[in-house]
Amino acid sequence: MSGTGATTWVYDFGQGSKEQKDLLGGKGANLAEMTNLGLPVPPGFTITTDACRYFLAHRSTPPELADQVTEHLTALEKAMGKTLGDPADPLLVSVRSGAAASMPGMMETVLNVGLTDESRHGLAAQSGSERFAWDSYRRLVQMFGKTVLGIDGDLFERALEEVKREQGSDSDLDLDAGHLEDVVRRFQAIVTEHCGRDFPQDPREQLDLAINAVFDSWNSERAVIYRRRERIPADAGTAVNVVAMVFGNLGMDSGTGVAFTRDPGSGEQGVYGDYLQNAQGEDVVAGIRNTVPLTELEHIDADAYRQLRGVMARLEAHYRDLCDIEFTIERGKLWMLQTRVGKRTAAAAFRIATQLVDEGLIDTDEAVRRVTGDQLAQLMFPRFVSGGDATELTRGMNASPGAAVGRAVFSSETAVEWAGRGERVVLVRRETNPDDLAGMIAAEGVLTNRGGKTSHAAVVARGMGKTCVCGAEELDVDTAARRFTAPDGTVVSEGDVISIDGSTGRVWLGEVPVEPPSVVRYFEGAIDPDSEQADDLVRSVHRILTHADRVRRLGVRANADTAGDAARARRFGAHGIGLCRTEHMFLGDRRQLVETLILAEDDADRQAALAALAPLQKQDFLHIFAAMDGLPVTVRLLDPPLHEFLPDLTELSVRVAMAQARGEHDERAHRLLAAVHAMHEENPMLGLRGVRLGLVVPGLFAMQVRAIAEAAAERRRAGGDPRPEIMIPLVSAVQELEAIREETEEVLAQVCEEQGVELTAHIGTMIEVPRAVVTADEIATAADFFSFGTNDLTQMTWGFSRDDVEAAFFSAYLERGIFSVSPFETLDRAGVGALVRMAVEGGRSTRPDLKLGVCGEHGGDPDSVHFFHDVGLDYVSCSPFRVPVARLEAGRAALGAERAGS
Ligand code: ADP
Ligand code: MG
Ligand code: MG
Repeated sequence: MSGTGATTWVYDFGQGSKEQKDLLGGKGANLAEMTNLGLPVPPGFTITTDACRYFLAHRSTPPELADQVTEHLTALEKAMGKTLGDPADPLLVSVRSGAAASMPGMMETVLNVGLTDESRHGLAAQSGSERFAWDSYRRLVQMFGKTVLGIDGDLFERALEEVKREQGSDSDLDLDAGHLEDVVRRFQAIVTEHCGRDFPQDPREQLDLAINAVFDSWNSERAVIYRRRERIPADAGTAVNVVAMVFGNLGMDSGTGVAFTRDPGSGEQGVYGDYLQNAQGEDVVAGIRNTVPLTELEHIDADAYRQLRGVMARLEAHYRDLCDIEFTIERGKLWMLQTRVGKRTAAAAFRIATQLVDEGLIDTDEAVRRVTGDQLAQLMFPRFVSGGDATELTRGMNASPGAAVGRAVFSSETAVEWAGRGERVVLVRRETNPDDLAGMIAAEGVLTNRGGKTSHAAVVARGMGKTCVCGAEELDVDTAARRFTAPDGTVVSEGDVISIDGSTGRVWLGEVPVEPPSVVRYFEGAIDPDSEQADDLVRSVHRILTHADRVRRLGVRANADTAGDAARARRFGAHGIGLCRTEHMFLGDRRQLVETLILAEDDADRQAALAALAPLQKQDFLHIFAAMDGLPVTVRLLDPPLHEFLPDLTELSVRVAMAQARGEHDERAHRLLAAVHAMHEENPMLGLRGVRLGLVVPGLFAMQVRAIAEAAAERRRAGGDPRPEIMIPLVSAVQELEAIREETEEVLAQVCEEQGVELTAHIGTMIEVPRAVVTADEIATAADFFSFGTNDLTQMTWGFSRDDVEAAFFSAYLERGIFSVSPFETLDRAGVGALVRMAVEGGRSTRPDLKLGVCGEHGGDPDSVHFFHDVGLDYVSCSPFRVPVARLEAGRAALGAERAGS
């Protein structure tokens, strides 16, 4: 549009579509979509996210921007038949942020731009309402003062409260034109005092400053925190929407509201939302006055209500999903101000996805794409059991489901501080605002006594999957005194334990016990999804997971070391064990035997110690093979350094010294102390462990292999179908693997012969040392499978030990953007991921049938699962409880769902 090859920084609403979120932001793209659907959207234009990125990089707007804005503003003025800030009949606009990813309430919007001392007269004359004109002006000065001029918003709030108090009222509706004029004067004085300049009287200057302020709000503290939590890229930038104002504050025949096409809490279809008469913008979610349920609108303005219902149905059919809508009614005329595919609870996400399939709006593939592993994980959180000895205090609104127990705290700072020292806390506020975000993240749950299901607390909590009870109006919350009072007079002070139930809205003093939710009971096999017992949530989860299993290519195994875990993993849908650790099998009573093994002075002693351990090991495996009958069980031979099984050096020294002081001599303790000294390592993580141990301690690995083989033989004779796989940890060189492989094959052959059974066991290695990655082609010649130990591989790639560094500097790294998420949580694709890819290619180059899996914790992380799918692994293995999550994400990856996470 702007001629000779120059970048287009500005698009009219008529020029965009919902597919252009990256360029126009979600708000802009959807305003364009609604405009093109012919819905009543006030005209306007969008300045692109490109312009924001330019602005953030250069600290100035692109040179062509001012002209392009003028061009579009002129077109807007023509369409509206008014000029921006015209003293006689002013066009007013809103200047609204809107990034590609939804960040509700995180950045800024300024309404009524174009009002000045002069044009206010025009607005009053045109509308026939002095009050309305002053009300609009005071809103502009406040929002502009706070957002654009950076003045502390409390100063304005306080000035407004003061005027209300002087009038003996607590509602803004009781203020008349004269009072609001007084408010404007006070606001303007605040601006002059804090900025050393008067409130700008040039409409275009207002517009330009507001646009830049929106760009700047991309980097506001709360936006940064929100992005980090939601894993939204830090450099995406926001678009700016300039929209002709429509007015919900023109009297009682006007108003503003929010609507959902389905209940974002449960997924139920219907009319959900809130409406507020004679109000503008954020009033409806800010809890300044009590809203009415949207259904009331039918009685307030039947025509507008009918029209709104029509638009809602239209949007749902068009977006084929739950839509979240902002609208305003100006003297009976309906205007659409925003829509987006609405955030919802995890349960609603599953229910809605299957409802839409049943309604023929989407197919089952799409239903799988519409839900996430994180949401499924939320459905597996425990729920409150009724009863217990906690006392119920009140019931609020069930804003975001979940069961939260913790100490009551009354400020975001306290929440962060207490959570930081390991306390569980519940954040209690009158209402939350974006400054409470850090506290909301730190808390187990959020409780407010004001605001409805669309209040800030509710919307943000749902987005984070955090438990929230809002609008518990019977509670008297006194944040300054750090306590609240229940209707029966009970006073709950900071530090008292409370329980809140986001599914029912109930609030208790004390700790309510929890139980597994229906979805977990379904996974456990206790609820048959086709029976009456199954609720619609269980049925939805069952349908979606069944389909995910059908379409996924990745296998899913579990990390399990006990028969109990193995059995649960199997019920949860695991096809085998990808990592059976053996170290815990050497703890407890068996420590004695390990000590004896270490103290052994000759072969005979050593053999005796091993012989004592062998039958115990065999029992361990027997039960696990039984639980996983017919499915592979990958047993990892002993991995950690041996001194982990020995007494602590200091403790032992003290014991020996005390005995000596008493004149006693404990020979075994003495020798043990010497052994512990001898085995002390500066960097045990990089010391004598894994395959190195197997090579240095004669007979240790052979004993384990024999136990595995004998257990398998016994199962076989009992008619079972054991499928052991033997995995060697920490290999760096093919020679290490060859040596252990030879020993292992010998033991297997011996056991076959002794027991008279046929036994085969795959022998493979973990890939967790960079050298193994680089020489994967060689290592594959001695391995039947690779299993990526991505925990160790991450440590070795970055060169830091998880235990030592997580607390020390991860938060600083997250803050500085070096990580966007801990590499132990989500696989670092660029670094560790590149190594995984390299080892896959190397391994398969010499052994095309090499089986590939991953057994680090990343195997259950949604984002990482997508990577493992892409890189061509055969399976992921994760903790039993994450198995359903991995199944779902493996299905989503196969269907090309965008990515995991929200
Ligand atoms: P957010 O992204 O925080 O929701 P919005 O840009 O949607 O911020 O604007 C804040 C409030 O102002 C919303 O209630 C919105 O509906 C209202 N609003 C925005 N633009 C206009 C407009 N042109 N006319 C009337 N109300 C508007
Ligand atoms: Mg909005
Ligand atoms: Mg390891």
